[in-house]
Amino acid sequence: MIQYDATIPFVEHFGMYQVPDTLADAVGQYRIDSLRSAMERLHVGPEIFELLVTEDGSVTDDFGTLCDPLGYFADSLLSCMKPATSASLPPVPSTLAELGVGGAALWIIPPVPKALNQADSAAIGKVATLTAISFCDTDFVVGDRAANLRYIALNSVDHPASMVLRETKIWVPYRRQISLPDMVAVRKADFVRLFTTLGVPLEARELECLSREELISCATDIRSYILERNRHVVFCHACAKKMLNLNMQVMSAQTNHVC
Ligand SMILES: [Zn+2]
Repeated sequence: MIQYDATIPFVEHFGMYQVPDTLADAVGQYRIDSLRSAMERLHVGPEIFELLVTEDGSVTDDFGTLCDPLGYFADSLLSCMKPATSASLPPVPSTLAELGVGGAALWIIPPVPKALNQADSAAIGKVATLTAISFCDTDFVVGDRAANLRYIALNSVDHPASMVLRETKIWVPYRRQISLPDMVAVRKADFVRLFTTLGVPLEARELECLSREELISCATDIRSYILERNRHVVFCHACAKKMLNLNMQVMSAQTNHVC
């Protein structure tokens, strides 16, 4: 469910929550919801992720990207599929490490970020749990301090194995199947609720994708945006991508014909 935060500008919510266009989007939206629920259950805020900050500059400071099951392997298979309620994900990296896939040298344990090393065991257990949720790892069991630190280190895109595994397919036979809710239906219901709460309920037509003609009309004439008041493009990833493309075409045409 979308967690609306009144302290964050409304427009920023649409960068995070969208009606998915592909199965990769659906998995991404599912991970956001799972992480948000887990953080509530564990009574932690985003500050817990500061424990993962490395001194030498990580590839990202965003936890969802740091522990991304698709990003770790640069897997694009799901980007070519429509949203569904099951998905074939790459393996959890720590599982590959246990099996010794790629050889033991691939799975060295890099130095633990200073803040994480100094944290208490309970906090480390929570970070490991959130890492597992981000990887959709349903087999994860919280271990002792050392096991949790190892799990966090191996399953971070900062681990050197990520760079190697992006260039090879040796992990492909270890793909796993996960189940997820119908994220298209979940997000549509979320947006209906969100706009109703805000006192500007969506109309039924605003839940349907726009035709190409309608998109062109909005891209080329600002009056269509204002008078039609169709907010669908704002929260539908598929229509937003098409609109962005059309806007770029319109903009490039204008620069070519400037007086
Ligand atoms: Zn749409």
